[in-house]
Amino acid sequence: MRRRITIFGATGSIGENTVDLLTRQGGAAAYDVVALSGGRNIARLAEQARDLGADLAVTAYPELYGDLKAALAGSGVEAAAGAQALAEAADRPSDWIMSAIVGAAGLVPGLRALKHGTTLALANKESLVTAGPLLLATAERNKARILPVDSEHSAVFQALVGEEMEAVERVIITASGGAFRDWPIEDLVRATPEQASSHPNWAMGQRITVDSASMFNKALELIETKEYFGIDPARIEAVVHPESLVHALVGFRDGAIMAHVGPPDMRHAIGYALNWPERNELPVARLDLAQVGQLTFRPACEKRWPALRLAREVMAAGGLSGAAFNAAKEAALDAFLGGQIGFTQMAEVVEDVLDRLSRDSGLTNDVISLEKVLEVDHLARQTAADVVRTLE
Ligand code: NDP
Ligand code: MG
Repeated sequence: MRRRITIFGATGSIGENTVDLLTRQGGAAAYDVVALSGGRNIARLAEQARDLGADLAVTAYPELYGDLKAALAGSGVEAAAGAQALAEAADRPSDWIMSAIVGAAGLVPGLRALKHGTTLALANKESLVTAGPLLLATAERNKARILPVDSEHSAVFQALVGEEMEAVERVIITASGGAFRDWPIEDLVRATPEQASSHPNWAMGQRITVDSASMFNKALELIETKEYFGIDPARIEAVVHPESLVHALVGFRDGAIMAHVGPPDMRHAIGYALNWPERNELPVARLDLAQVGQLTFRPACEKRWPALRLAREVMAAGGLSGAAFNAAKEAALDAFLGGQIGFTQMAEVVEDVLDRLSRDSGLTNDVISLEKVLEVDHLARQTAADVVRTLE
């Protein structure tokens, strides 16, 4: 049977890699593409929708509806725009949905997909960090499956096939260290958005690339590991691995460690989720280990990357602190990219927001409902803006 596919964030880095794999695996002739979503890149969204014969294309921005409609003229593809249209796209019956919007904006469409019992390939780690228990409970209630797409989590998922969770002693996720891993710590205050936007190994969207340099990406991934696999934070480790060839390792109680090794190409993790539970041939480079020569590892220093310390605090606090952490991080990243604050001030802003919100409203004990999550998300962004103003 032809599978029905929807891609949220189709015009982004993960989205484009997903479109590439679908096209290589037969495109419109092999799949029924139900809906594709994008943001500002209307020309590319329309092109993808035409090529894949999608039923619907949605831009997140209502003001771009006219442009999208014009770009789709004569194609037979329906156009829609806005947050409500994105959520409704998730209501259209699909068998597999890729969640690859960047930021907390990915939460609602993903949640809606799970309510329909749809398999959700989850690249949007922010939704697990923001509302992990809600996402997992929704999946369980509706017998929907979440397949991890973040490379580290896909690696752990693969290392766990056929294993009992009780036998897992530790999970180690690797970090490249990002753009500044070899900079003297005292130089980090002068790091510019342009310098932070180039990654030594991976080609990704700008926001996750800067988050790699600050290690906020790894901080989100530590929390993502806790939420998705239900592992005690004390058993989750991060290690710097500059080659980005080992994506994660799982240590078992008999002392064995299973490592997942492969080139830094997201099409592996996306393709694994697309073809799961089968493994199909994928267009990723094959490693020549003799050529690679050596794999190196070093500690992930919390002094250089305070985001890692903050992630530990968030994991310990639980509740709505993940929602506050992610929103404050997104706001701090905007302020850094906009030139309002320096690179090292991003962590200061996030820490200050967490302190203020846990003091004022208490983030720990609340039940995680969508309303509460959106409320805390909004409050954390506002508080971050206040903190940024004091630093400018
Ligand atoms: P990109 O910035 O490349 O793409 C983001 C996508 O989301 C684009 O389609 C963009 O549209 C759309 N978008 C942007 N803002 C909004 C919004 N407010 N509402 C709805 N849609 C929006 O991001 P990436 O592909 O790099 O990352 C996507 C997700 O995957 C993130 O959660 C990231 O953390 C995760 N991830 C990414 C990896 C990677 O290799 N890139 C690796 C692991 C995880 P447009 O471009 O048209 O404006
Ligand atoms: Mg990752």
